Amino acid sequence: MIASTAQLAQHGRAHGYAVAAVNILDDLSLRAAVDAAVERSSPLIVQVSVKTVRSIGVELLTTMFRLAARDVPVPVSLHLDHCPDRAVISAVVAAGWSSVLFDASDRDLDQAERETAEVVLESHAAGCDVESEIENIVGVEDDIGSDESVHAYPVQTLADVAARTGVDLLAPQLGTAHGLYTSAPVLLPERVRELAALTDLPIVLHGGTGLTDADFREFIEAGVSKINISTGLKVAYMRAAQAATAVAEETGRWDPPTMFRDIHAAVQAEVAGRLDMFGSSGQAESAMATTAAR
Ligand SMILES: [Zn+2]
Repeated sequence: MIASTAQLAQHGRAHGYAVAAVNILDDLSLRAAVDAAVERSSPLIVQVSVKTVRSIGVELLTTMFRLAARDVPVPVSLHLDHCPDRAVISAVVAAGWSSVLFDASDRDLDQAERETAEVVLESHAAGCDVESEIENIVGVEDDIGSDESVHAYPVQTLADVAARTGVDLLAPQLGTAHGLYTSAPVLLPERVRELAALTDLPIVLHGGTGLTDADFREFIEAGVSKINISTGLKVAYMRAAQAATAVAEETGRWDPPTMFRDIHAAVQAEVAGRLDMFGSSGQAESAMATTAAR
């Protein structure tokens, strides 16, 4: 069933778990992620980077997602990850995607608020939810972002801007970074608690690859209800491809479908592990009962 991203994250917040938002790269990783959600009877957010939108195209991605998600017995939504480009936002909103992350963290506060309000108007008119980011989450992901903290605000400002603009989900800085860590991050679960005391909006954790189970549990207990997974999936995907090509080299059998099967299994296992860790396994039925299909 195709579902609303905000409603899934709200269900997670109300029931003490987080929905995994999995960055898919192609049809193979899309089907593997959906298969993991079905296997674990879990809600799922299928997330797509702007880079993947540019490589596959909005129309093909939309069709692939609809075919993969429409008839499965778990709620799945389609989300555009970090997007500072208004034209790409407009294209996926028009195509009927569930939600977008309008990344205004490269703008100064006034402009970020003004443009976020515009994106909310345009998106809500089409039934699309908006995740808001006005502080930049450190690290570069699919060519978007910066390794330096450019904009950071008090949590009260984040809550006030969210209330004025009418966004549906919030992505604050939580000490995590995109990509693989080279040194241990200083995590900020207390920022989630402070923000959760000021707003009922679902809070999103970016840059989760490399965090421990205990880190995730603390963030979820503090109020995080959407957790983005990208780098971990890419590593699982490429390691499976690497192992498959090593076998092909050895045996002289160059059979792509064999490699696809291995990649599918590796990505499905990686996603299933996250669903268990985030506590969303077994929540599909309850989530579907309280969310509207779209
Ligand atoms: Zn992110």
